[in-house]
Amino acid sequence: KRHDHDIEPLAPRRQTRQLNVGGVLVGGGAPISVQSMTTTRTSDIGATLQQIAELTATGCNIVRVACPTQDDADALKIIAKQSQIPVIADIHFQPKYVFAAIDAGCAAVRVNPGNIKQFDDRVGEIAKAAKDAGTPIRIGVNAGSLDKRLLQKYGKATPEALVESALWEASLFEEHDFRDIKISVKHNDPVVMIKAYRLLSQQCEYPLHLGVTEAGPAFQGTIKSAAAFGALLAEGIGDTIRVSLSAPPVEEVKVGNQILESMGLKERGLEIVSCPSCGRAQVDVYTLAEQVTAGLEGLPVPLRVAVMGCVVNGPGEAREADLGVASGNGKGQIFVKGEVIRTVPESQIVETLIEEAVKLAEAMGAD
Ligand code: SF4
Repeated sequence: KRHDHDIEPLAPRRQTRQLNVGGVLVGGGAPISVQSMTTTRTSDIGATLQQIAELTATGCNIVRVACPTQDDADALKIIAKQSQIPVIADIHFQPKYVFAAIDAGCAAVRVNPGNIKQFDDRVGEIAKAAKDAGTPIRIGVNAGSLDKRLLQKYGKATPEALVESALWEASLFEEHDFRDIKISVKHNDPVVMIKAYRLLSQQCEYPLHLGVTEAGPAFQGTIKSAAAFGALLAEGIGDTIRVSLSAPPVEEVKVGNQILESMGLKERGLEIVSCPSCGRAQVDVYTLAEQVTAGLEGLPVPLRVAVMGCVVNGPGEAREADLGVASGNGKGQIFVKGEVIRTVPESQIVETLIEEAVKLAEAMGAD
């Protein structure tokens, strides 16, 4: 048997309109997708496609690319065509690139109502072009570039201000009978961000793209995103997520997937159940857990592996996992599917676990 991961969700997912973003369904009960954004110059087609391939291999579902110049806009056609996952063009300041992205066949276009000049006047044209091409639009409001009118009205980027900006922009599209919309209201403070998304989810049925913007370097950004997304996902809010880190984008994707797995919203891949170690530990748990994690990375099956330092909780956790080790007296008892299959010296624990994991993966039908 496989380890049983069928846990009841924390809350029913909020019902949202469904969008088709280049073949990936978003909202309306579709799985929550993980997004990231390339850091290459989009005009460097080879480097951008290479990074998209790495992101795809890491489990990214949808990728966004910046489009600040005409050269970037010109590159979109090939990138959209050759990318393995849907490509969203990220447009600021210049409405003309919205049309270029739609023409290039991008899966969606992100616009920021706060910083596209004369955007409001051109919504009609954008809505028509997007509708004709079947291209969804993400209205991406960001605290750092909030519409000046709202900044004046509210004094700062409050949850209400972020939501009002997004819904105002959505209403302009609605006037042109365009509703293939996804919304984000990002803020760097998880508390403001959570309040904004809660408010937004009460006021519209559009799918929501979650993000803590400018969340910081990897450690801080991971914690901020996990705390904020966790709170919202536990309430059924969120249809796509993007973890923003000052770190390579593959790290964002790993964190995003791990958050979804932790919240029971995505089938768990490799899960290491390892103890924090304590004064009772009879092996070096940190090294063991790190080596096992590194040795099993990329194994394409859901596996729960327990790495435990002593006999207090060791046998119990090891028995419950697909695979595990309970250590004691310089030896490790290796468990597979609840049974002790052998006892090995400490020096052989890692290789034995990896060997048994590969056998389990083969038995589960992995290549
Ligand atoms: Fe300490 Fe043993 Fe628990 Fe690990 S399993 S934290 S070593 S008591």
